[in-house]
Amino acid sequence: MKRIYLDNAATTPVLPEAVAAMMPYFGGVFGNPSAKNAPGAEARAALEKARSVTAGKLGLKEGKTVFTSGGTESNMIGVVGSVLSSGRRGGSVICGKTEHRSVLDACRLLGRLGYDIIFAGVDGNGLTDPDEIADLIRDDTLLVTVMYANNETGVIQPVKRIARICHEKNVPMYTDAVQCGDPSDVVKTGADMFGISGHKLGAPKGSGLFYTNGKAVRGGAGQEYGIRPGTENVAFAAALSAAVSSGPPENTERLRSVFESAVTDGLPGTVINGSGAKRVPGISSMSFEGVEAEGLLFALSELGTDAAAGSACTSDERGSHVLSAMGLTERQADSTVRFSFGRQNTEEEIMIAADAVIKSVKKLRKIR
Ligand code: PLP
Repeated sequence: MKRIYLDNAATTPVLPEAVAAMMPYFGGVFGNPSAKNAPGAEARAALEKARSVTAGKLGLKEGKTVFTSGGTESNMIGVVGSVLSSGRRGGSVICGKTEHRSVLDACRLLGRLGYDIIFAGVDGNGLTDPDEIADLIRDDTLLVTVMYANNETGVIQPVKRIARICHEKNVPMYTDAVQCGDPSDVVKTGADMFGISGHKLGAPKGSGLFYTNGKAVRGGAGQEYGIRPGTENVAFAAALSAAVSSGPPENTERLRSVFESAVTDGLPGTVINGSGAKRVPGISSMSFEGVEAEGLLFALSELGTDAAAGSACTSDERGSHVLSAMGLTERQADSTVRFSFGRQNTEEEIMIAADAVIKSVKKLRKIR
């Protein structure tokens, strides 16, 4: 049975061009980019080429583009690194309530260090209100962190408006852009800092990027402008640059629309979470009344379709802080499945998967 992979928000297959871009660095080009010798210079040149290609492709004209190990690390650098570099021993940080766990954990760490963490809520579509952010900003606010797109629902936050408010009030703004779909859209928001993850874009797991437009960020040792410590992974930098250069998938918006129409036609009453807001094209969060997500995922898997309950990164946690912040009950959240689409998916696959969802939900509803 050919499997249909609809969990691209958890991770994507590595693109052939990303694999090809890495190969030289597992062979002849092996130098340490910090070494003052010929192999080192060769590796350094490759790293800087990956950096300039990535920055150029994203339209980043100034600031610092830093290669990291992925979204979690970029979030830690953006949140903790920027607050600590303020040199202030206290103060407040404003954080979206539906942020990814890696941002929430970074904020919790700051909370333990004595900073005041203030949460901004969301409406029923999962949207943060920029006016609420403006009201929450105080004289001692050191950072506002609101994600670009939510990993469970795909809902895109009004980051551009929030960034504008932050600029007016002279407060740095970070956005977790791991689920952005197209990182060049994030650049256009004017956020001071952002993080992306390579493995959501067709590069390997363990690759990522952090950007700062010049806002000070404390991170580590001598590498990567002193922002990210450790000998650079030239192969993964090259892979990320190749993945970014290949551009965003062009088919996912259409695939999602076909999928959502087919499922809601077959199962009237299915709720698509966040559908009243602008969403990234690749994610659909659906709640099926009377059906446990766990059972549905098992039934789908038996039929060859792989999806996820809530967020893959929080599958060890009970419930969903995102859906609960949007006003869903625990029971509704427990009946929610996330389908996420990638460039390798076809319309034919989508129709087979939608049929599997309809059949499985009907069957599970009968035996409840
Ligand atoms: N932020 C968001 C919104 C995510 O969806 C994820 C992972 O799914 C991360 C951060 C963590 O990224 P990484 O797996 O690259 O550490």
